[in-house]
Amino acid sequence: MYIILKKVSVKMISDSVAESFEKNNRELIKKTEELESNLITSLKNIELLISENSQHSAKKISDSINEGFENNNRELIIKIDELESKLLKSLNSIEILKSENSQNRKQIVYLETVLKDIYDSSVIEKKICPICNSQISAFLPFGDPLRENALCPNCGSLERHRGSYLFLKEKTNILEENIKMLHFAPENFFREIFSKKENIEYFPVDLNPKVFHLKESTDIQDLQFPDDTFDFIYCSHILEHVPHDQQAIKELYRVLKPNGAALIMVPLKPSLKETYEDKSMNTPELRQKHYGQSDHLRLYGSDFQGKLENSGFNVSNDFREKIDEKSVKKYGLKSYRDFFYCNKKIIVKK
Ligand SMILES: [Zn+2]
Repeated sequence: MYIILKKVSVKMISDSVAESFEKNNRELIKKTEELESNLITSLKNIELLISENSQHSAKKISDSINEGFENNNRELIIKIDELESKLLKSLNSIEILKSENSQNRKQIVYLETVLKDIYDSSVIEKKICPICNSQISAFLPFGDPLRENALCPNCGSLERHRGSYLFLKEKTNILEENIKMLHFAPENFFREIFSKKENIEYFPVDLNPKVFHLKESTDIQDLQFPDDTFDFIYCSHILEHVPHDQQAIKELYRVLKPNGAALIMVPLKPSLKETYEDKSMNTPELRQKHYGQSDHLRLYGSDFQGKLENSGFNVSNDFREKIDEKSVKKYGLKSYRDFFYCNKKIIVKK
């Protein structure tokens, strides 16, 4: 019995263990299968992720590179546009400069032509000083403000000297006939001519004898000559220095012979109706400022001719207006304006 029991018990234990093993195995197998399945899924996911990630990165890199290129291109295009714009501007500037240059060249050619004409005409038609007979290309500028064609480079004559000398030569017989001549402040070039002329009995005079190498002083306001002494008086730029100019004009009239003549010149401002004279202008500075020269005592206006006529003179002053332009150029008379040829009226006694 015991043996039987023992056998039954062993069999029961053995079965129970076997069953327990089997159950355990099945569960292990099942879990292993589940894990395998999970593992496969995970691997697939990993593969998928790797694949996705790789594609994504490549695209990202590619996009980034493309974007970089695009940005770079855009910047380059902008720079190229800027350069093109600058180039166009430069080309425009070059065109403008070319045009200006061509205009300048035209002006230079124009001026060269004018200068050539002037040069040609000055070579062919030399200027002539009627006083010293020099043939010159040009008279020199002179004065303040400068006057062109004014000063003879040879004898030092100015427009008024050449103009009045031409007048004496062409319109009077003073240089040919036997005459007695009174000359105030005698200019060297005139003194040279007049003193050597046999027909002229010549009296050079001035208030300041030393300046003109004269023996004695002569005051135009109080002449030490008898009435009716001279045939001709040359009195240029004297009266504006004299305190009593009306008295001086009277004296000129007095010492002239009947039918005698005086050539009288003063600096004159034609736009001034009345002579400007103010006793309070008593310093060289004030006189310079108001009269144009420090030793002038007044500034003559267009009433000057009346002052001469008041003393009895017949006055003509249209010589300058009758000089043709060719002679004006030839003799340098452009600024030669005011001179007064004064004849002493013949007084017919009844
Ligand atoms: Zn000269």
